[in-house]
Amino acid sequence: MLFKDEVVTSVNRLSSKLIATSRFLHLHPELAYEERESSRHLTSLLKAHDFEVIEGVGGLPTAFVAKAGVEHPSATIAFLAEYDALPSLGHACGHNLIATSSIGAALALRPSLSALGGRVLVVGCPAEEKGGGKIALVKADLFANVSAALLVHPSNRTEIFKDALAMRALRVEFFGKASHAAAAPHLGINALDAVVLTFTNLNALRQQLRQDARIHGIITDGGRAPNITPDYAAARFCIRALDLEYLHDLQRRVVACFEAAAQATGATVAIHEEGEEYHPMKCNRALGALFRANLEALGERVEQTPEDQDLGSTDVGNVSQVVPTIHPTIALTDRSEVVCHSAAFAEAAGGAAGDRAMLTAAKALAMTAVDLFSCPEALQIIQQEFYQA
Ligand SMILES: [Zn+2]
Ligand SMILES: [Zn+2]
Repeated sequence: MLFKDEVVTSVNRLSSKLIATSRFLHLHPELAYEERESSRHLTSLLKAHDFEVIEGVGGLPTAFVAKAGVEHPSATIAFLAEYDALPSLGHACGHNLIATSSIGAALALRPSLSALGGRVLVVGCPAEEKGGGKIALVKADLFANVSAALLVHPSNRTEIFKDALAMRALRVEFFGKASHAAAAPHLGINALDAVVLTFTNLNALRQQLRQDARIHGIITDGGRAPNITPDYAAARFCIRALDLEYLHDLQRRVVACFEAAAQATGATVAIHEEGEEYHPMKCNRALGALFRANLEALGERVEQTPEDQDLGSTDVGNVSQVVPTIHPTIALTDRSEVVCHSAAFAEAAGGAAGDRAMLTAAKALAMTAVDLFSCPEALQIIQQEFYQA
């Protein structure tokens, strides 16, 4: 209890610095992979608090790892920081609060690490909104020797567990043959028709799919003029499912829809996988239970809704497949209509509601790390669950 009181006091002592950091990020929103100023701001705060910082990890210039603690720790706890914003909306996903709460927890633990025998990492993860920066960090083996990974995402509800869908992005191109659309249509091959048939095929496929499957897309190229038979057309799709096996099955069936459209029109087809495959979320129940107890001890009310509803995808899913992970949310507002990726949410993330949520999250994160450092049995249960699931 002593150490928990200490970290809570530390967060309170650091609060003006943490709020200033969160507000700075909010006022200087940067898009995925371009978070140079944000990353610099966060790493200088960590360096000022005696963290050893390595910048540009995993081949990503705006990623970083900050470390502090003992040489041979009882546990290594990674707090994940996200700090990318959204085009035109700024910090409408509240990643300024994710970064600051994770760093707040790490700074609050710093003075107690030798007494606790623990090690803390802050992993600076760029590009959550686009590209999936954490996937590169997982591939670069940055989570080797990490005992648990935690971060708290702002939301309109405080929840501990939420599934996330596995996702694959695809781009399809059709190559046809241009011709005069009125005078010589019989000499043309219509690539746009192949895209239109693709959508028709996918619509037919959709009715035979499991509830959790998602297919959604846009047409990016559809010809140049109505009097020219389009010789080139292209589209982009995201496909999602709750597990990788079904996602891979879905991908085979979606590709068949592309190929069938090509065959029907006589166009040739090129299919590209875009970016990395997002993996589903493997929530660690035991770790979530520890975090929940700490959050409730701070007076926060948890309102857990069904875990398999209203789902998106996140690159935290990939982290959760290699290390015990939780990705709880904390309420910025009790207004259910204020959802992330909206202007109202951005405003809340840069104001008093955001400050409150960020400080509470920092405290609960730090308290959970104290549990893991001081109770080897708790850590063992978490590891056991991870390897058995
Ligand atoms: Zn988002
Ligand atoms: Zn987000």
